[in-house]
This record gives sequence, structure tokens and C-alpha cells, in this order.
Amino acid sequence: MIKHHPKFELLKSFVDGDLPASIAAGIAIHGGMCAICQQKINQLTEQVAEVSFEEHFQEKYALAENSTVSTITELDFEDMIEQITACDEFEQQKTFKNPAAISFKGTEYNLPNALRNMSLGKTAQIGKLSRARVQLDEGEIHTSLLHIDAGGSIPEHTHKGFELTLLLAGTFADAEGEYVPGDFIMLDKRHQHQPATEEGCLCYTVVNDALHFTQGINKLLNPIGSFIY
Ligand SMILES: [Zn+2]
Repeated sequence: MIKHHPKFELLKSFVDGDLPASIAAGIAIHGGMCAICQQKINQLTEQVAEVSFEEHFQEKYALAENSTVSTITELDFEDMIEQITACDEFEQQKTFKNPAAISFKGTEYNLPNALRNMSLGKTAQIGKLSRARVQLDEGEIHTSLLHIDAGGSIPEHTHKGFELTLLLAGTFADAEGEYVPGDFIMLDKRHQHQPATEEGCLCYTVVNDALHFTQGINKLLNPIGSFIY
């Protein structure tokens, strides 16, 4: 069962369209895997739609007081039809940039729809780690698909900024316990962890600063730090 969900403020910002594309995609993917959050997103979306409809209506009404009522109603109606048609066209355009699945170390993983329209870079590898960049051009925010092969781990590290890990497939564990597909884990500099996977896993990660390794020899592992950043 999914235990880790985005905070309410994140869902709200998602619906308001205030999040960077990387985090918004993370929320959309989580919503596709978590009925509870999807329901909250739907409710928030309805509320936003109601508010903007009311605002729209009030604007028109205010306008109507200064002009003839009949033209406004006509315009309103045309507007509405246009919006509905525009929505239909959008629904029909479901051609994706990427194929439905991606392969890491011989295992095929289904790509969530949110990622099928984003450009993916070539897969790079260090040991049991494989990474394909999601090319979003968000400056210091780096987004990747990160695969850890069976028996692999990431050395203990802290974060200067934030790290979002959304588990897409497989499982991994750290001192906090075990994670399952759909878990949405947002860490910041207060956290320190060492994720490891027995069966292998695929994660969607968003990081806004290179990771800092905390233990002895791990400090020498900076290539991994920049690799998973
Ligand atoms: Zn959720």
C-alpha cells in the first residue's frame, strides 16, 4: 500500500498550475497510481473551475451593465462552444513522443503517460545505476528516470536542496522502511538516507542540487553524486 503522498499544499499548487513541470509531472504520475490523491486533485480542480466560472460570469455581468444585454449573451454562447470544441480537439491529440515502455538492464517498464510526451536522453550507467535524463531545461532542477539494479544501493547522503523520489516499479528500502510503487518521497536537507533495493527498482527523480555523501569513503563517490543529480 502507498504510504507516502504529496502534501496538500503541493496538490493545491499543482491544480493552480504553480509548479515546475518536473514536480507537476511527479504529481500527475502519483495521481495515476493513487486513487486517494487523484480524488483530491479532481475536487480541487472542480473548485478552481467553479471559482473561475464565477469570476468569468461576474466580469461579463459587470460589462453587461454598460452595454446591451443581448450581444453579451450571444458572445458568451459562442465563447462557450469554442471552449468545448477546443477541449475535444485536445482530447483527440493523443500521439506520444515516446513508446509505451522503456528498458533498463533487460527489464521492460511501462512509462506513465506524463513521461511519454517528454524528451528522454540516452541511458548512462555507473555500476548498478542507470539513468535517463528527462529533458525539461529547468536550470538547477534535474529530472531523471533512475534505475537501480537488483542488489544495488545509493551510498548514504544528505541533500542541500530537495530530492523527490517517486517509485515507479519495484521496491527499495532505507532506515525509514520499505517503499512500494506510487510512493512519493520528498526529502530536504534535514534528511539523510541510504536507499537499497533487493529486486531492483525504477524511480522518477527530481533533484535541485548534487547529493552530499556523508560517510568516510563515500566522500570519494562524488561521481555518483553528480550522476544521480
Ligand atoms: Zn497519494
